[in-house]
Amino acid sequence: MTENALPQRARVVVIGGGVIGSSVAYHLAHLGEDVLLLERDRLTSGTTWHAAGLMVTFGSTSETSTEMRKYTRDLYSRLEAETGLATGFTPVGFIELATDDDRLEEYRRVSAFNRWCGVDVQEISPREVLDLFPLAKVDDVRAGFYVAGDGRANPVDVTMSLARGARLAGAGVREGVRVLDVLTDRGAVTGVRTSAGDVECEVVVNCAGMWARQLAARSGVTVALQSAEHYYLITEPFEGVSGDWPVLEDPASHGYYREEGGGLLVGLFEPVCAPWKVDGVPDDFSFGQLPPDWDRMGPYLETAMSRVPVTADVGIKTFFCGPESFTPDLQPVVGEAPEVRNYFVAAGLNSIGILTGGGLGRAMAHWIVDGRPDIDVTGINIDRLHAYQTNPEYRATRTVESLGMVYQCHYPNRSMQTARGAKVSPLHERLVARGAYFRDVSGWEGADWYDPTGGTPEPGPLTWGRPRWFDWWAEEHRAAREDVIAMDMAFMAKFLVQGRDAGALLQSLSANDVDGDPGVITYTQWLNDGGRLEADLTVTKLDDERFWVVASDTAHRHVEAWMRRHTGDRHAVVTDVTSGYAQLNVQGPRSRELLQSLTSVDLSNDAFPFRAARRVDIGFARALCVRITYLGELGYELYVPAEQALHLYDRVVAAGPEFGLRHAGLKALASLRMEKGYRDYGHDIDNTDSVLEAGLGFAVSYDHDFVGRAAVEAKRSGGPLDRRLVQVLLSDPQPMLHHSEPVLRDGVAVGYVRAASYGHTLGGAVGLAMVQAPETVDKAWLEGADWQVEVAERVVPATVSLRPLYDPTNLKIKA
Ligand SMILES: Cc1cc2nc3c(=O)[nH]c(=O)nc-3n(C[C@H](O)[C@H](O)[C@H](O)COP(=O)(O)OP(=O)(O)OC[C@H]3O[C@@H](n4cnc5c(N)ncnc54)[C@H](O)[C@@H]3O)c2cc1C
Repeated sequence: MTENALPQRARVVVIGGGVIGSSVAYHLAHLGEDVLLLERDRLTSGTTWHAAGLMVTFGSTSETSTEMRKYTRDLYSRLEAETGLATGFTPVGFIELATDDDRLEEYRRVSAFNRWCGVDVQEISPREVLDLFPLAKVDDVRAGFYVAGDGRANPVDVTMSLARGARLAGAGVREGVRVLDVLTDRGAVTGVRTSAGDVECEVVVNCAGMWARQLAARSGVTVALQSAEHYYLITEPFEGVSGDWPVLEDPASHGYYREEGGGLLVGLFEPVCAPWKVDGVPDDFSFGQLPPDWDRMGPYLETAMSRVPVTADVGIKTFFCGPESFTPDLQPVVGEAPEVRNYFVAAGLNSIGILTGGGLGRAMAHWIVDGRPDIDVTGINIDRLHAYQTNPEYRATRTVESLGMVYQCHYPNRSMQTARGAKVSPLHERLVARGAYFRDVSGWEGADWYDPTGGTPEPGPLTWGRPRWFDWWAEEHRAAREDVIAMDMAFMAKFLVQGRDAGALLQSLSANDVDGDPGVITYTQWLNDGGRLEADLTVTKLDDERFWVVASDTAHRHVEAWMRRHTGDRHAVVTDVTSGYAQLNVQGPRSRELLQSLTSVDLSNDAFPFRAARRVDIGFARALCVRITYLGELGYELYVPAEQALHLYDRVVAAGPEFGLRHAGLKALASLRMEKGYRDYGHDIDNTDSVLEAGLGFAVSYDHDFVGRAAVEAKRSGGPLDRRLVQVLLSDPQPMLHHSEPVLRDGVAVGYVRAASYGHTLGGAVGLAMVQAPETVDKAWLEGADWQVEVAERVVPATVSLRPLYDPTNLKIKA
């Protein structure tokens, strides 16, 4: 076989030789995999060749993203020694500018978190900004956030170096070979069909950049990304510019700035953007650029150039526009597709593919080799996305907003504003009439809070502090604790699992015992072989052959794929009934009285105890009523066929006034569950946590076999835990916690808040934090020190607890 002949087989075929495909191939080869990278044209010919090459570790409040950035920077700085090809990484430094109070607050919060992650970020004065970047206008600058070790790299050199490193480690790299199709058999990858013949393989990794969606669609795989125009300009060279200056970024002016060829490169993230080629990226688009839209970009350009005013006086050498892929939530599309076994994707990089590419390649390689990722992927997993998000109109509409979001202030209550109304609850119009303010909940319109004044709900200005609707939210919270609330939860993922072996299937997946008596709901986790969390959900046994499985919206497709992939030869059929059923939660100490006034079924504690699940009649409707709570009170969840949802809702609401019924939204759900310490998968617990560290050992039953059991037992017998999830309550009622705030024990950071809300009953902001001890996280360790949380620049005293701070003995829920 000649050097250029295509091998007939490889265990893994990586499709696409941009920075991502090259990094995936590099890392797979270093793990000893038999890997072949196929590139349609030449390496870097898609988006990578024209990237600006910013290398930034500062700026994310995601541990996953920050770790990827750090790893990438380190990799690019040492790659030349391994491959002989320089990456062009130059640690000239990076400065983020804050020009108003809200950005200052944001970057102080980010800095605190990034420092905890090991990023050496310093807050510097406007004067210091000027010293480092003498051409910047700093009269309106509040502060700069400076990372001396960040800088820039050359994306083409990075990619070539990675590809050389892959080859040196044994990978095949072929240019000029287009993958036409991925071949599958019985839902699993078997090979690829290419312009140069077929190649057998067990695994493919679609790293085809902006082509990834089109290629994936041929195999029925959903990759929701869209290419969009992305701009920078390069000035003529001029006196006084230095290549040693740091990269400067000013999101408020839509721009970033660095030296290029003796002049300056001014990069742009405009707030209103333009998708490109919604109908599909041409197959032959290589090393391509797009004609710049001067009219559209003119005003943004002017604002960006005003930060470095001299750029307006020197000539423009190039105004460059190239396409880059953006996703609906600005997170990459990563992992094994739920539709096809061993079909992996790493695409949709949202303009940070160079600076995260090393880390992403490393993570993908471990995922493929070990069978599961070793980082938290809950926010980036391909299975969070849904097929409708590949619709042309959806992509065209959402992408107008997504690129610009990169440079917006990332306020805690911000929701995407475009492509709204894609999915609505059967109760939607009723909730509108009640004054609901909606936010995007995995594409659903979710009622977040209610304006009880009868007007159109106005959220007021976005803020890091108390929002305009704080008191209405508090009132909803109070009603749940003292009276009764109604909450629309139509967006929850619901599955009917039926068949002779349905119980055996679910029992084998569930750490808890879910196959006991019929008519009982069980809270459980699903684990992987490593004993780490894959899902957090409830299973209700309806009868011996029918089970009702409910998971959160973000876990929808993950849970479904997990069940299907573990079914094997069992007689068990999984049906997604999310669209067929509404869910109305009626919760609070007076919920029993309210529902009892509507049904002939005896709801007394003896007849209908905690965890009971029964059919109830309400008016003309028949609902599945489950006595369970996610907010820590006596309460019920009503599941009703969608066509009876309005009828049931109207009956509940009509009976409500006598019992103090109030509508409550998702903000109240968050604050109530957080006080009770109830977990939320993908927010405060994720796939890197063992079930024991997550504090969910009480939901593990050792009387049956289940996936991950050996790992849980090993962990249990391994001695006390040195890492655990704890509840954190600020002693000062004023500051708000959002997430990612470092938690300090006697002044030393030992973890961070993974998710938070405001405890209206407890009287302060409350969150869940994973903390790490030198030896054991136990009561003595928690009580033997002073605790604080770092909120922006403030250190706020706090209480920490392993037990729920609200109703630790569960008296309320069993009342
Ligand atoms: C103007 C601009 C500035 C940017 N600046 C930065 C920056 O400063 N820092 C940063 O981190 N990121 C930046 N980016 C983003 C970065 O360039 C991208 O995120 C990154 O290059 C994406 O890499 P990729 O490998 O996913 O895609 P690509 O580079 O597009 O690679 C995909 C490859 O797949 C190949 N391919 C497609 N279909 C097939 C097929 N069927 N068979 C075989 N091969 C196929 C293509 O030819 C292509 O080479 C910038 C982007 C733009 C547009």
